Order: sequence, then C-alpha cells, then structure tokens
Amino acid sequence: MRAEQHDVVVIGGAIAGQTAAWELAQRGFDVVLVEQDMSGRQHGRLGDLMLQVLSRAGELAVRVRQAERYGVLAEFGGVNYSQLVRRRDEVVDYVIGGRPMARLEAAGIRVVAARGRLRASGEVEAGDTLLRGRAVILATGSRPHIPEVPGLEQADFLVPERVLGYYGLPRTMAVLGGGAVGVTFAQVFSRFGVGVTLVERGSRVLEDAEPEVSQAVTQVLQDDGVRVFTGWEGVSIHLAGGQRILDLRQGGNAAAGSVTVDAILVATGRDPAVQDLGLEAAGIQLGPRGVLVDDELRTTASGVWACGDVVGVYHLSHMAEYEARLAAHNVAATLTGQGPPQKVRYAQVPWAYPLDPEVAQVGLREEDARRRGGPVVVGLADFAGLHRAITRGEVRGVVKVVADGEHGRILGVHIVGPRAGELISEASLALRAGLTVHDLAETAHPALALAEALRRAAAAAVQALG
Ligand SMILES: Cc1cc2nc3c(=O)[nH]c(=O)nc-3n(C[C@H](O)[C@H](O)[C@H](O)COP(=O)(O)OP(=O)(O)OC[C@H]3O[C@@H](n4cnc5c(N)ncnc54)[C@H](O)[C@@H]3O)c2cc1C
Repeated sequence: MRAEQHDVVVIGGAIAGQTAAWELAQRGFDVVLVEQDMSGRQHGRLGDLMLQVLSRAGELAVRVRQAERYGVLAEFGGVNYSQLVRRRDEVVDYVIGGRPMARLEAAGIRVVAARGRLRASGEVEAGDTLLRGRAVILATGSRPHIPEVPGLEQADFLVPERVLGYYGLPRTMAVLGGGAVGVTFAQVFSRFGVGVTLVERGSRVLEDAEPEVSQAVTQVLQDDGVRVFTGWEGVSIHLAGGQRILDLRQGGNAAAGSVTVDAILVATGRDPAVQDLGLEAAGIQLGPRGVLVDDELRTTASGVWACGDVVGVYHLSHMAEYEARLAAHNVAATLTGQGPPQKVRYAQVPWAYPLDPEVAQVGLREEDARRRGGPVVVGLADFAGLHRAITRGEVRGVVKVVADGEHGRILGVHIVGPRAGELISEASLALRAGLTVHDLAETAHPALALAEALRRAAAAAVQALG
C-alpha cells in the first residue's frame, strides 16, 4: 500500500467536508479529501434540494387550483411525473455542477475518490493508499434511519433522497415520520393528488417545534387532504396484490388499524454514517446522536475532529457549514500552536422548512425557557389581520415570541406562515443583538411587510410584561 503524508485528511466531501478542506487550504495547509461518491449527489444535499424542488411544485399545483378565486382562469391538469424528475435533475445539475470537486482541486486540495477508513487516529486507508495526517476531520454525514418494522425491507420502501424512485406517482402513500421532512413530503404528494396517510409515533407532528406550530401544521396538512395519525406507529407490513398493507397500533393502548397503500416513504430521522469507518481502531466513541465530540468538535481520539451530520446535533446544511468552519479553525489552531480554539455556540440556531406555509424558528421554545428558571412571557399574533396576507390570500399561520419576563429580552421566535423562512432572519438578528420585545414592537414595519406579524407578536409580549 502506497503511503502519503499530509497536514490534514478529511473524510467525506459534501457540505461539511468541502467547507473544512477549503478553509484549511486557504490557510496554507496541505489537505487531502477522501470522498466515496464523486457525483456530488449524496444523501444530504440531494434530499435538501429534492424537498425544495417538489415543495415548489406542490405550491404551484395549489396556486393553479385556486387561481379562479383571484380572477385568473387556469385549469389544473395534473402532474407530469417525468417533468418533475427532469426539473429535479436540472436543479441538482445547476447547483452541484458537472465536476463538484474542481473548485477544491483548483485550490490545491488533493481529492481521492475512495471510501475512507480509519486505521488509527492519524491514518486513513483510501483504496490502495494510506493517508497519514497530523489531523483528521470526519465529515461523513448521515443516512436515513430505517425503523425495525417487520416486512419493511420487502416493501421496496422509499427514502426522502430517493423519493422519485418509481416510474410514476403512486395513487396512495403512507409516510412514516412526522418530522419536518415527513410532513413536507406528505403535503407535497397530497397536493399532487396522491392519497397520503402520515403516521407519527409521537403525540404531535414536528415535536421539536412549539405546540402552536404543530397544531397549525396539522390543520394545514388536513386542509391539504393528508390523513394524520399522531400517537400511532407502523408495526408490520405485508404485501398483497402489489400493494402494501401497513398495520398500525396506537401507542399505549390496544387500538389497531391498517392502511393499504401503493408506496411507503420512510422519514423517521437520520443515523450517523459511520458504518465500516474504523471508529474503534482509532478510539472514537459514539454518543446518542452521532460521533461524540466536545465543545471544540474534538472526538475522543487525539488529533481527530468531526463536523456536520455525522455529529448529529443538528441535521441542517448551514450548521454543517458552521461546524466545519469551526473544526477547521480548531485544527489550524492546534497544528500551528497559535490562537485559542473556538467553542461551538448552538444557542441561536435558525431553521426553516419549505412547507406551505413555511415553518421557521430560532432560539428557545417556551418550555425550554421556563425550564431555565425565571419569569417568561410570550406573545402571539396571527397573519389573518394583515392586509398583505389577506390580499395574497395567505392568512394561515401564527407567530410566537418568547421573552424573559423581567426585561423582555427576546429568547425565541417561532413562525408558521407565509415567507416564514425570510421573516425568521429579522428574529435571528434581534436575538443575536440581544434586543427586547420593546425594540421589536416599536420598530415600524411597512404595510406591505408580512414581518408586521412579528412586530404584533412582540407587542403582545410587551402587553404580557405589564
Ligand atoms: C430530505 C432532506 C431534506 C433536507 N432539508 C433541509 C433544509 O431544508 N434545510 C437545511 O438546512 N438542511 C436540510 N437537510 C439537511 C442537510 O442536507 C444536511 O444537514 C447536510 O447536507 C449535511 O451535510 P454533511 O456534509 O454533514 O453530510 P452529507 O451531505 O451526508 O455528506 C457526507 C458525505 O460523506 C461521504 N462519505 C460518507 N462516508 C464516507 C467514507 N467512509 N469515505 C468517503 N466518503 C464518505 C458521502 O458520500 C457524502 O458525500 C435536509 C436533508 C434531507 C435528507
């Protein structure tokens, strides 16, 4: 086996791996990046793009159906499945390009097309080459979590990143998992005319969101025709006449039922991609979410850092990028002995999902804020009273502002509503700047702005402060 010595070996070449490798190369380090799939169409990024492409198509399907209400004549003629696939491919090709690694190679990074495996903490086997590094960064991402449901393997199930896996749209579909990915696909397929049943084991969809948001999203899904089963889980599947019969049980009691569908989409979360990565050989431990790291993103093995989905704190592309930059900084600080390492700060992480209306949040939920102790106030506002929302015909949704009950400092903002993904950025800035609900409530917003709902929620919190 040929051996090479580098400063840093990065395993995994998607968002996290590319960002870390790029940052280190910019600082003058000799970096080698190992990626098993040079197409650039890996799980995370493909799923993310797919979700956005399909959700946009679903949105258009609804707008066309509703156009007559606005005085515009249009007829919904159904969905052209091959065009959906073509559009997905066009977007993916445009975003990822033909040679996704060309930019890295041009920056002097050696890219090895192989599966990487740790042999020891500073040694990575990649094909017939042994790569030695003064530091190693793990950025191998995540893969779909597949629950242990008897019969599932035989049911030819779909996962989010391969959701356009059939030759056409199924007539009926069961979606297992009521997280952000599951609810978005459930809505989209329902809008395409597929009969969708969503099954979520927990007591509500979007369990990580505020209860008000979950409630609004459940209503939205039902309005779109999705049958929502919360508190139920799929217990077994069997095949009959080309269809899948999913047996369901209601948690905690003996109620049982079943749904018969053409397709099953599994959206029950993510597992860290660590299979056959040689973690034991390097002394790297796994935690409950993924590779165990400290607050500087160091793993339990000396000289090895990890970032992105493989760490599993968040499954968000902007957080994969953030962690990758931080890991690169800390590797550089360690190798040069200069500068203190940085610590991860997860306090004000914004996220948004392309449901229609969109869902977004930043900061603490009310429950988390109360758990920290001290008084807490909340302010709620809906979109129904906003002229902008009314004229657009997009009045569904709610904004919730959580603030400390003493000075009114904003702790969290939660939105389900039109353009929530854009509105949340004002809230992120407010949190970062340590602003209060008074600041937000006293800031004039143009009559045209949907963000006026944010101001109104802040004003409601000011009232609650008394
Ligand atoms: C359906 C879906 C929708 C999403 N929607 C959003 C969204 O709306 N907003 C958002 O912020 N995020 C979203 N995400 C999450 C986001 O895409 C991920 O957080 C992000 O892509 C993680 O990047 P990563 O580089 O850590 O991992 P990944 O993208 O999983 O990449 C890991 C890379 O490592 C490679 N690899 C793995 N093992 C090895 C090995 N042993 N040797 C060599 N290479 C290896 C893989 O081939 C891959 O290229 C979504 C994800 C999915 C699946």
